[in-house]
Amino acid sequence: MKFADLGLSDELLKSVTDAGYETPTPIQAQAIPSVLMMRDIIGIAQTGTGKTASFVLPMIDVLSHGRARARMPRSLILEPTRELAAQVAENFEKYGANSKLSMALLIGGVQMGDQVKALEKGVDVLIATPGRLMDLFGRGKILLNDCNLLVIDEADRMLDMGFIPDIEEICTKLPANRQTLLFSATMPPPIKKLADKFLSNPKYIEVSRPASSNLNIAQHKVKVTSRGKRDVLRTLLKTDNVTTAIVFCNRKTTVRELAKSLKSYGFMAGEIHGDMDQSSRIAELNRFKDGSINILVASDVAARGLDVKGVSHVFNFDTPWHPDDYVHRIGRTGRAGATGRAFTFVAPEDAEAIDNVEKLTGGKIPEYTLGGSGDGAAAAEPASGDSEREKPARSARAPREPRAPRAEREPRAEREPRAEREPRAEREPRPERAPRAERAPRAADVEADLVIDSPVDRPMENIEPELVTAQASAERPRRAPRADRPRRDAIIADAVPAPRPAASMVADTETWNGPVPGFLNVSAL
Ligand code: AMP
Repeated sequence: MKFADLGLSDELLKSVTDAGYETPTPIQAQAIPSVLMMRDIIGIAQTGTGKTASFVLPMIDVLSHGRARARMPRSLILEPTRELAAQVAENFEKYGANSKLSMALLIGGVQMGDQVKALEKGVDVLIATPGRLMDLFGRGKILLNDCNLLVIDEADRMLDMGFIPDIEEICTKLPANRQTLLFSATMPPPIKKLADKFLSNPKYIEVSRPASSNLNIAQHKVKVTSRGKRDVLRTLLKTDNVTTAIVFCNRKTTVRELAKSLKSYGFMAGEIHGDMDQSSRIAELNRFKDGSINILVASDVAARGLDVKGVSHVFNFDTPWHPDDYVHRIGRTGRAGATGRAFTFVAPEDAEAIDNVEKLTGGKIPEYTLGGSGDGAAAAEPASGDSEREKPARSARAPREPRAPRAEREPRAEREPRAEREPRAEREPRPERAPRAERAPRAADVEADLVIDSPVDRPMENIEPELVTAQASAERPRRAPRADRPRRDAIIADAVPAPRPAASMVADTETWNGPVPGFLNVSAL
């Protein structure tokens, strides 16, 4: 299958060539023709599969004719986090270089006034997080009556973050005969329910991870005590040929303290978590991408979905509480044909969590024993008494960090149910439901004072791509007339999920003992 067979316009084919893509990924091959034919889509695909281009490319063609009216965006893309919204905006800039579409990015942490100005000029593509969108909608700054194309991206993440009621509300404000594209890495019942309610006769597409036969992730679990974790991590960082690593923690406090500790031991470490403002998160991510630091300590919400390539290692400093986070975390390595290693630290209190991970992934993760009686082994089972993590490593290049008072180390208060894990400040603020007149100043208003210097946070008028109107290609599939499209039907035959494909590679028993779920497609090194 070639891009030229998908029905995209010549201008878009040029953008695709300019981006260096030779062949469409499976999700692109299946989704692009259907989106061009105005069908609703359910795409079960994770980040890394090329899913963003699978909706951005055809959207540019679908929207190439027509004009946006003030406050009435013609299409809407909902993203769970600011980072993902910014990434999608970057994709529009990249692929839309030869088109003439205008775009606005509505995310928290960016001056609201600029966003409102952009909306007032009229936009073809509105990329938003649900909180900020609802807020502006509540203020009467946006009308969604003319929004005929809706993309709900990372739906399962939206569910985790408690956005489903917002999304339902947003769906009711759009025209009933719009086109809706829903993407999700998994299909838990609430997402299925959402799809049944708001999609019409959708085409169901499910793809496994990209280039799965090339994807190599050697997975290990390492038994540790909670006090021995830092020493085990330092040992592995020094001995396992780590070039770049993301270290995931379950709590923001741990992220902060661990990054500080690693730095004090001379590691080039940075951090990314939900308490950081947007510009700091992006700055830190850029330092990681440009190699100024090679270790990024991260929380799930801040790191999920980010397209960071070439990570040699993922460390789960804490076993994730939710098994699907495990899949997302280790997916940061072994990408784009590269090999990678994932280590999961398992302390006694993680017994249930690792059990759940192994249930989801379908087999026991092989245990990794740190060699000899060196610091790693000692750290894995440190002697009782002083916390192992406070001992300077043998090759410590910097003085050890002062020991934090116990109460500050891992406050239990941070261990909250999933939807609450990251407080509102991390998520986009959800508007209050009170009538406008009663509303007090909201978090979003406070955010308006933040100064954002990242290019992805530029207000829409600055990122509006230049250009040439896309010409419809003669080969483009014909769109079904909207009026003919059946609405609100149950998912039809081709929408029935196919059984998960068997893993294309079965790991050997050295690194993986059980069956491998199709969506994970791991293999041993
Ligand atoms: P996504 O799943 O949308 O996050 O995309 C993951 C990465 O794949 C991004 O860096 C894209 O630039 C890249 N990509 C998307 N489509 C293709 C393609 N057809 N060929 C090669 N790389 C692609």
